[in-house]
Amino acid sequence: MDNYNPKQLYTWYKHENTEEWHLFKTVLNPKKLSTGEIRLFCTRIEEESVCEQMDFSDAASDRLSKVCVREDGARMQAAEILKRTACGNCVATLYSTQEY
Ligand SMILES: [Zn+2]
Repeated sequence: MDNYNPKQLYTWYKHENTEEWHLFKTVLNPKKLSTGEIRLFCTRIEEESVCEQMDFSDAASDRLSKVCVREDGARMQAAEILKRTACGNCVATLYSTQEY
């Protein structure tokens, strides 16, 4: 995490084999729907999780949500939903970012 950005968005993805959830950096991209409506879609910006232990190609198809969340949101999801299934290293990055 060389370039810490407090506005960075994240999404949790589950590893299909270990069933552990890892954190990926994401961004909101506007896309125009066929109806002409503009919607924001959550898109990954890196192929590796923030702990560098999971490649996105190993992600299970069930997702926590496709919604990008801010750092505090990702922290809350880990604490309230994922609990012990959240990767400890990924969670640690959410708590150590102030140092950067
Ligand atoms: Zn991880």
